[in-house]
Amino acid sequence: MLLDPTLDLHTFYEIDYFTGKRGRFSPKRNVPEIELDKNFDLAIIEGHPSTDRQIDLAKTIRRHAKIVIAVGSCAHIGGVYLNKEKTLPKIIRIDHIIPGCPPDQTELARCLMDLYWGEFFRLPDLAVCFECRQNENDCLIKMNKLCLGPITRGGCNSICINNGEACLGCRGLKPDANIKKMSEILKPILSEPEIEKTMSIFGNLDE
Ligand code: SF4
Ligand code: SF4
Repeated sequence: MLLDPTLDLHTFYEIDYFTGKRGRFSPKRNVPEIELDKNFDLAIIEGHPSTDRQIDLAKTIRRHAKIVIAVGSCAHIGGVYLNKEKTLPKIIRIDHIIPGCPPDQTELARCLMDLYWGEFFRLPDLAVCFECRQNENDCLIKMNKLCLGPITRGGCNSICINNGEACLGCRGLKPDANIKKMSEILKPILSEPEIEKTMSIFGNLDE
């Protein structure tokens, strides 16, 4: 993920740790050493912690950071095909989420700048359908095709539908999403197991 090159975040943030080849972390094991010797104003976590070591690392980061931002679908909802039982927000407290696959660099930059200036950052509450209609796309559901836009949090400018693909929910559920109604809408389009599998991107909906 690349941040907006026109926004020089180094002016506002000093990067102390980074999981790159030149960082203090071990690229071979792909997991940083977990001894942190200082605290941080802010930590950004990408990816889904799937091993005990990664889970310990997430907990260590949480202990050392005032603010933790989970970035991307894997960190937010466990990604598309990953284990949903132990997603990052179920392991540690998350202060902010930048959802999506890929996450939107402008949204992350906006979050970082809002936090820097002490502003309140929040994600859009509207469904993808709202942006999709603004973009005057033909509705896939009306064409008897799969789309999870009605229950998915907007903010991506309905990019998938604009490009002829269905929304598969990568930004997670919008607030007050009507799961039951969505399942009913999908019944003429998909079988029950297909609906269950499609909706599983959102994790365990019975929780
Ligand atoms: S295509 Fe999908 S996102 Fe667009 S209006 Fe229809 S259901 Fe909503
Ligand atoms: S349209 Fe849906 S799947 Fe595509 S980026 Fe937006 S939220 Fe993700």
